Amino acid sequence: MSSVLRIALQKSGRLSEDSYQLFKECGIRFDYGTGKLKSVSSNFPAEFLFLRDDDIPGYVEDGVADLGIVGENVAVETGRPVQTIHKLGFSKCRLSIAISRGSDWTGIESLNGKNIATSYPNLLGNYLAGQGVKAEIHEISGSVEIAPSIGLAEAVCDIVSSGSTLLSNGLKEVETIFRSEAILIARAELDEDKQALVDKLLFRIKAVQAAKN
Ligand code: ATP
Ligand code: ZN
Repeated sequence: MSSVLRIALQKSGRLSEDSYQLFKECGIRFDYGTGKLKSVSSNFPAEFLFLRDDDIPGYVEDGVADLGIVGENVAVETGRPVQTIHKLGFSKCRLSIAISRGSDWTGIESLNGKNIATSYPNLLGNYLAGQGVKAEIHEISGSVEIAPSIGLAEAVCDIVSSGSTLLSNGLKEVETIFRSEAILIARAELDEDKQALVDKLLFRIKAVQAAKN
């Protein structure tokens, strides 16, 4: 039986359009946006799964998918043992700490003894440990930036791109802890046939990227 690569992409969100576009530019055709969970390519031995981004590293680890596209932030936060095989250069953002605009900031040690709300407890915890800062981390799954105004935390650690969300919630960005872009991840072990398909795909991705630079 011939191999088919299973590739997990974000169903709908900040990674989706550029991910779909990348395969299109690689000459790999498939349907998306039809509401289906799965789509088979008509001209490359690949099938695409459309999922929430947070679930993609786990599916790749478990072998439900061979490849996936996620933000580095999600790949590192979930800590799944998958390989990063290529950086894709889109969905660039940063993970930053922000505090109320009126609060004093003399450096990262200002966070000692404070409560920080975030959806990235592992990334933040590792960063603070590396800086020798002891703070309380409150994991919340969304709307992190409102935490200070409702008295839940004195600081937040969240994804920032333009900074306008922070500004409109009365916050100021004080420290960037991680810079992220979309990456292609793969299962730790791929058989020879699938590895050959991954190599073929990577060759095309690199050619598309080279043509843009
Ligand atoms: P899902 O519904 O799939 O769980 P989500 O709401 O968790 O989606 P998105 O907001 O679509 O996630 O973001 C997906 C990824 O895109 C983030 O993990 C990050 O890597 C990147 N990203 C987030 N915000 C931005 C931004 N403002 N600009 C560019 N890239 C971003
Ligand atoms: Zn998500």
